[in-house]
Amino acid sequence: MRVAIIGGGAAGFFAAITAKEKHPEAKIVIFEKSKAVLSKVKISGGGRCNLTHATDAIDELCKAYPRGGKKLKNAFHIFSNKDCMAWFEARGVPLTIQDDLCVFPKSQDSQSIVDCFLNETSRLDVRVETGKEVKAIQRKDAAFELHFKEEKIKPAIFDKVIVTTGGSPKRNELDWLENLGHKIEDPVPSLFTFNMPGESVSQLMGIVVENAIVSVQGTKFKAAGPLLITHWGMSGPAVLKLSSFAARHLSEMKYQFNVQVNWVNEENQEMVLRNLLDIINAHPSKALSNFRPFDLPSRLWLYMLDKSALQHTKRWNELSKKGLNQLVNLLTNDSYAVNGKTTFRDEYVTCGGVSLESIDMKSMQSKSCEGIYFAGEIMDIDAITGGFNLQAAWTTGYIAGQFI
Ligand SMILES: Cc1cc2nc3c(=O)[nH]c(=O)nc-3n(C[C@H](O)[C@H](O)[C@H](O)COP(=O)(O)OP(=O)(O)OC[C@H]3O[C@@H](n4cnc5c(N)ncnc54)[C@H](O)[C@@H]3O)c2cc1C
Repeated sequence: MRVAIIGGGAAGFFAAITAKEKHPEAKIVIFEKSKAVLSKVKISGGGRCNLTHATDAIDELCKAYPRGGKKLKNAFHIFSNKDCMAWFEARGVPLTIQDDLCVFPKSQDSQSIVDCFLNETSRLDVRVETGKEVKAIQRKDAAFELHFKEEKIKPAIFDKVIVTTGGSPKRNELDWLENLGHKIEDPVPSLFTFNMPGESVSQLMGIVVENAIVSVQGTKFKAAGPLLITHWGMSGPAVLKLSSFAARHLSEMKYQFNVQVNWVNEENQEMVLRNLLDIINAHPSKALSNFRPFDLPSRLWLYMLDKSALQHTKRWNELSKKGLNQLVNLLTNDSYAVNGKTTFRDEYVTCGGVSLESIDMKSMQSKSCEGIYFAGEIMDIDAITGGFNLQAAWTTGYIAGQFI
């Protein structure tokens, strides 16, 4: 059996190694368009490679995928995050689990993962051909003919093909897969931070609020977690998560929308009011500026007093009912205009790609072209940060490699 893997990234290598271990007689070739393979793995996780997430329950794992989560459930039962960890450790890559359950190689260097893949492909005699970009696949009887962009490279025949070409924000780069009968979900970026050019809150750059809730006004999209104020707007895990949940909606809004911020992670306004009344009882004569509710960062609290037009020197027991309500509203329902996005450390992923409706998720085989399989970010699967995107590449790559 001749197997072509198109794309030399995480999913491509995982699929190739799995396929060769399952079918030792198969001739397996990875075609990579650029000069280097595994470039994204190399830069992943800030060069440390957050290769998975050590969540215990598969249901929890699925929740990290705004696109594909439900359909990945069975796939994770075949190859889970725990299987992935065992896979790398069995191949001589010791791992470490952080407090936040993100998993890294113990070396804290993504090169350990790259080396592991290169050693495995060399040991198993999987051929890796760089500088070869596949531009079309044509059916030839029961086999497939691959055509390359580089004119001097002759078409090549394979029995099975696994497409692992990764995320692509450009719709036209997916035309060749659409031409084979696959439905394409328009690709848009996910995992970005919010630009707020007209908002004075950026003066507070550097401030982190440990547990905020951010939501897109007028929608159900919301996310909780640390919020970082930057010189261009807002970032941090809560914002990245929200950008992932709402990726398609925000693209449709052309990244112009209002974000609501609950600075205190308490949606019950009664509770927040009670907290402020307790402060009035306990510290009646303290100046507003001298006692911060919910342990808010001091610069943020002063900014809120200014935003509510409350004098810093006013005492807590001098707060009028109107002033109290204003503060409760600001603490739980603050609003900022977003205009544009910025990619976070270039760690974006693509929302969209080959629709899961076109793929049999039990085998990752195309429903319209028997013999073609998919794995990785080319599929309409993407997740929040934390090792989940690579996990999807390992799981789908493993299944495609097993089922060819
Ligand atoms: C900077 C950065 C950091 C990240 N960090 C993390 C992290 O720590 N943890 C995590 O879980 N996720 C992370 N991600 C996301 C994760 O890296 C990707 O989701 C994952 O690498 C996708 O793997 P893939 O094999 O599907 O695609 P890719 O890694 O993109 O590989 C696809 C390969 O196919 C090649 N190719 C494309 N078209 C063709 C063609 N026509 N012919 C031949 N070759 C082709 C490309 O050149 C590429 O090498 C990060 C992403 C970025 C950008």
